[in-house]
Amino acid sequence: MADTMTAKQRHECMSRIHSNNTGPEITLRYSLWHHGFRYRVNDKRLPGTPDIVLSKYRTAIFIHGCFWHGHKGCKFYIVPKTNTGFWTAKITRNQERDQEVWRQLEAKGWSVIIVWQCQLKKANLEETIRRVEAEILQNGKRYQAAKEERKDSRLAYQQEQKTRKERELALKEELKRH
Ligand SMILES: [Zn+2]
Repeated sequence: MADTMTAKQRHECMSRIHSNNTGPEITLRYSLWHHGFRYRVNDKRLPGTPDIVLSKYRTAIFIHGCFWHGHKGCKFYIVPKTNTGFWTAKITRNQERDQEVWRQLEAKGWSVIIVWQCQLKKANLEETIRRVEAEILQNGKRYQAAKEERKDSRLAYQQEQKTRKERELALKEELKRH
C-alpha cells in the first residue's frame, strides 16, 4: 500500500500507538470490568508484559498497534516509501517477538487474545468487546476443564497408590501366617 502520511502525521500516529492508555483501550477495560471481569494491567510477571491479564480465565490480551506489529491487510499498516528496508526489518522483528511471546505463554497454559488498534475504532469497538468477552469465557471454560482433568488424574493416581499399598500389606500378612 502507498504511504500517504506526512512525517508529522506519522509521528503523531506512532506516539499514540506507543501509549497504553488510549481512550479506546480504556473503554475496553472499563467494559470488561463492568461485566465482572477482573484483570491486571501491564503484568511484567508474564512473557511480553501483556496489556490485560485475566488470571481466572488464564487469558492474556495484547493490544497491538497496526503499524508496529504489521497488521496484515490493514489500512493502518503502511510501510513508508522511504527507508522501507529499515521499517520492514523493524516490524518483522516485532512480529517474531510477538510469536515467541505467544509460544511462551501457550507453553505455560495461557490463552492469548490479540486486539488490533483498528478494532478499537469507534465503529468496531462494540463488536470487538463482544468478541473479546466471548473468547475470555471460552478460555476460562477450557482452563477449568483442564484443571478438573488434572485433578481427576491426580485422584486416580492416589487411589492406585493406596490400593497397591493395601495389597502389599495384605501380602505381608499372608506371608507372616505361613
Ligand atoms: Zn489494523
